[in-house]
Amino acid sequence: MTSHPISQNQSLFDASQLRIPGGVNSPVRAFRSVGGTPLFFQKGSGAYVWDADGKRYTDYVGSWGPMIAGHCHPDVVKAVQDAAANGLGFGAPTASELEIAELLCKLLPSLEMVRMVSSGTEATMTAIRLARGFTNRSRIIKFEGCYHGHSDGLLVKAGSGALTFGQPSSSGVPAEIAALTTVLDYNDAAGLERAFAESGNEIAAVIVEPVAGNMNLITPKREFLDALRNLCTKYGAVLILDEVMTGFRVSLQGAQGYYGIKPDLVTLGKVMGGGLPAAAFGGRRDIMQCLAPLGSVYQAGTLSGNPVAVAAGMATLKLVQEPGFYEYLSKLATRLTTGLTASAKKHGVEFCAQSVGGMFGLYFSSAVPTSYAEVMACDKEAFNRFFHAMLDAGVYLAPSAFEAGFVSSAHTEADIDETIAAADSIFSVWK
Ligand SMILES: *Cc1c(COP(=O)(O)O)cnc(C)c1O
Repeated sequence: MTSHPISQNQSLFDASQLRIPGGVNSPVRAFRSVGGTPLFFQKGSGAYVWDADGKRYTDYVGSWGPMIAGHCHPDVVKAVQDAAANGLGFGAPTASELEIAELLCKLLPSLEMVRMVSSGTEATMTAIRLARGFTNRSRIIKFEGCYHGHSDGLLVKAGSGALTFGQPSSSGVPAEIAALTTVLDYNDAAGLERAFAESGNEIAAVIVEPVAGNMNLITPKREFLDALRNLCTKYGAVLILDEVMTGFRVSLQGAQGYYGIKPDLVTLGKVMGGGLPAAAFGGRRDIMQCLAPLGSVYQAGTLSGNPVAVAAGMATLKLVQEPGFYEYLSKLATRLTTGLTASAKKHGVEFCAQSVGGMFGLYFSSAVPTSYAEVMACDKEAFNRFFHAMLDAGVYLAPSAFEAGFVSSAHTEADIDETIAAADSIFSVWK
């Protein structure tokens, strides 16, 4: 009888489930969507991560986006160590907060003022409160399949029938709060126009992911982006671009620069924190001046603008400004998607892929989806099978068919080619 070594991932997961609900501190980590045992990571370096059994993986999750320069980039690690040596936090202003505010406003021209928070959830939650305070209106619009963090008014799905009130998508969210959110179809300019025609004067804000990255990856149609801007302007609603994922990911100017669309407010997180908890929201000065202590919209945070988190963010934002940074990321992402697509085609697997800057989407379908309904129609079982086969081959993709993937500047063309080769052997015996 040969004894099977017990996986450290499995024993850590078993023990974690006794003390942490589901064994995880954020639900997607539990592998519920793809099945199997989640990996517990012990370290990362550059493009690679190592699980609790010491197995190495090429990482296409990058902590869900922040690790755009790869794990443990020496500049980022040094900045964090230096900042930590000077004090972990004061709950009082520091010069580095001014530095990052000035840098963010320089890089994203739509930002005239900015406030730091600690998570994307806080950024979107507060941007909405601010939009409501500024407009004196209550209703907000979001789009099915877009994720904006887990505050009550954003955990909402479409009610039955067009233009009805939203319904909670989570227990614990009061129906009365969900009813203030209208949920529309992404990329549906006509639907947005109808919603504004019906109740435009009640709408405080429209919040949208300018590239949707939380339902796999959906790129925005030009007419959709134009409708967002024009209708918000026409009806006096605040356009909030949620760039928590796309900011400093699709280009140095975010999706707003990539597509040329000017928001009233912007939310940022992920890359701008370099892996530590730093996020922000900002935008038009007249709107931002409604925030306490200048104005009557309250917002605060003990850890907001934490010097160690700001240092990680500043070091990362310095790296992404190096010439050719985004050209390199785009080149890698394109190499990956075209390589995977060619391999699937060669072996007759129904599959396609696309990328925008440093993010990409993989779809088990014949055509790239452009709506939530089309994403939902992709073959989820095929993705799950592919995910596990790639994991065995040492490639870590997001553990869900409905997440975007990310490359970093630490990935090499050789890494990408190895990943394509792994997929090619899987596709060659796919049937
Ligand atoms: C990740 C994400 C958030 C939430 O950010 P957290 O830091 O996880 O709270 C909000 N919006 C978008 C678009 C995101 O991708």
